[in-house]
Amino acid sequence: MTKIQFIMMSCGYVESNQTSVLIYGTHFHGHDGFESGTEAVKELALDFYAKFFDENMSTYNNRYSIEIKKCCREALIKEPSCKFCSACGSRLEDKPFDAEGFMEFITNLHGTTCDSYGESEYANERHFVWWPWSGLKSLLDAPKESILCIPEQAEVCLLDALVEAKPKILRQMFMAMISGRRLKKERVFSDFKTKRDII
Ligand SMILES: [Zn+2]
Repeated sequence: MTKIQFIMMSCGYVESNQTSVLIYGTHFHGHDGFESGTEAVKELALDFYAKFFDENMSTYNNRYSIEIKKCCREALIKEPSCKFCSACGSRLEDKPFDAEGFMEFITNLHGTTCDSYGESEYANERHFVWWPWSGLKSLLDAPKESILCIPEQAEVCLLDALVEAKPKILRQMFMAMISGRRLKKERVFSDFKTKRDII
C-alpha cells in the first residue's frame, strides 16, 4: 500500500479560499509516510501546534515582544519557568490555546516566504515530521495515492485533528474564550448546588 507522503492544502472557504496551495512532504525529515490520512493530518496538526506554541503562546519565547515589560523580561531571563514577576507581580504564565489564533496562524502560512516562515524543523520539544519545502518536482514525480489533498478549510481540519490528538486543548480553548473573567469554580458549584436543592 502506498503511504501518504505529501499533503497539499488550502485554507479558507468559498470567497476566502486561498488561491495558492501549501505543500508539505515527509521525505526531508526521513519519515517514510503514513498509512492513513487521519494519522498524516494529526501529525501535521501537532507540528503546527508546536510552532504556534513557541511563536504565540510561550511567554518566555516571546520575552522580547513589546507587550512584555522590562522587569518581567528580566524575571524570565533569570528564571524561564517563573509564573509571576517578582518586581511588578504580573502573571507570566504561557497564554492559553486560542483556536481562532491557531487557524489564523495556519492560514497566514500562505503568505510566508522562506525567510519569514520561521521554524520548520523543531519547536516546543517536537521534531517536526512534515517539511514545507517539498519541491514541486518531487511532488509531481510522486504517485497520486501518496498525496493527500485538502482543497479548502485546511485550518479547520487541522484544528479538529489537534483537538482529537490533544483533548486537553478543549479546556484551554474554554479558558481563552472566557479570558479576562476569572472562573471561581467553588462558587459556581456551590451556587449550582443551592439552586438545584431549591428546585
Ligand atoms: Zn514585571
